[in-house]
Amino acid sequence: MSYADLIGVERARDVLVERLPAVMEHGLSFCRAVYHTTPGGGTVDVPGGLDAGLPDIRIRPDLSTIAPIPWEDGVASCVGDAFEPDGDEPCPEAPREVLRRAVARLGELGLDAVAGPELEYYVCDPDPSSPTGWRRYGDATGNVYTAGRKGDPEGHLLRTLRHLRDLGLGVTMGNHEFGGGQFEINLHHSGALDAADRAFRFKAGVQEIARSEGRLATFMAKPFNDQDGSGFHVHLSCLDGDGRSVFAGSHPDGLSDTAHHAIAGVLEHAPALAALLNPTINSYKRFGPDSLAPWLTDWGLDNRSAMVRIPPERGEASRMEVRLGDASANPYLGIAGLIAAVYLGIRDKAVPPPPLEGYGYDAAKAPVLPGDLPTALDALAADEALTEVLGEPFVTAFLTYKRDEVARFRRHVTDWEFTEYAYHL
Ligand code: GLU
Ligand code: MG
Ligand code: MG
Repeated sequence: MSYADLIGVERARDVLVERLPAVMEHGLSFCRAVYHTTPGGGTVDVPGGLDAGLPDIRIRPDLSTIAPIPWEDGVASCVGDAFEPDGDEPCPEAPREVLRRAVARLGELGLDAVAGPELEYYVCDPDPSSPTGWRRYGDATGNVYTAGRKGDPEGHLLRTLRHLRDLGLGVTMGNHEFGGGQFEINLHHSGALDAADRAFRFKAGVQEIARSEGRLATFMAKPFNDQDGSGFHVHLSCLDGDGRSVFAGSHPDGLSDTAHHAIAGVLEHAPALAALLNPTINSYKRFGPDSLAPWLTDWGLDNRSAMVRIPPERGEASRMEVRLGDASANPYLGIAGLIAAVYLGIRDKAVPPPPLEGYGYDAAKAPVLPGDLPTALDALAADEALTEVLGEPFVTAFLTYKRDEVARFRRHVTDWEFTEYAYHL
């Protein structure tokens, strides 16, 4: 039984099947430390945690998510929701709850969100001679859309695709990406919570399948200096009460006023959204000119250098592809942030600037995205409208956790500093 912690890491307890009826009735207790523990095991002083003696949270299974794990005999996995231990109050910082809150606000406008996640990641093989202990999978000469064994010499991508299909994640296809040993797998679009659940399980599944082969699959934003970063692109559209897209319309670009308001909302809140969609120190090394990752807060018609790309399809397939996010984002929080921004844009009838024409990495054309995590965290802290939608207790917990990460990094001496200074100064 698992769920996503604040940064999207899968936290779980293995429950024997004979205990399942009791768990279904009462839920399962976890120490609240799950929202306060870093991947390295440090404890961050998030409000309601250490200061309150690290009380329990209770995870209740969402049985609609139960599914046998195809690569693990006799094991099923189920995603749960986090509640306060003494009642029916959801934990305010629980990522699934934050997403539900954003979806409910959009619902107040009579709209529902549809999301289609795309995730890129690197696969590595063990290599004792490498400083990190890993080298990129294959001979690393694979490039974008490299076919067959040339890019996937041991059939790892094919096994991953089939396992994830069997887990019921709605994966549609996979391909070799621009980086050597980098892959992308696309997930079918669906309602926001289901799409985020699938993206969360996808990341955990990809990592587990790689581990079972002695490999490392990483969704870190920019693991290698000389290779592209890994994106978390999200295709987004809105449906009315009859389930019809409200993004197609009569503007010369084929979009509706509502679509324009939604795009404007994403642009307006982009600096704060970066905190959720680009949540690590490393994330900001992915941005930059000529990277196919964005650098400016702009939008464009079928333009992959823009932060928001409008794919060419229209009618019911009218949508935006938000290319801001990197693969390290917690999918629940990234999608929640986007839906909150879309909600605010539509509610306030925001109007976007004209779309980008041509080359998207000219800083004269649009504001540059935050250059580092502290700047993005400050933008989130300052974004009262977004905070009101996502919930103040969540934003406070998230900022506390992430500012601790920034403080730890500031004290840490990196390899780069040693190489740059030690021999010369
Ligand atoms: N790797 C790029 C990114 O970080 C995206 C490449 C693509 O368009 O598939 O967003
Ligand atoms: Mg891609
Ligand atoms: Mg894409």
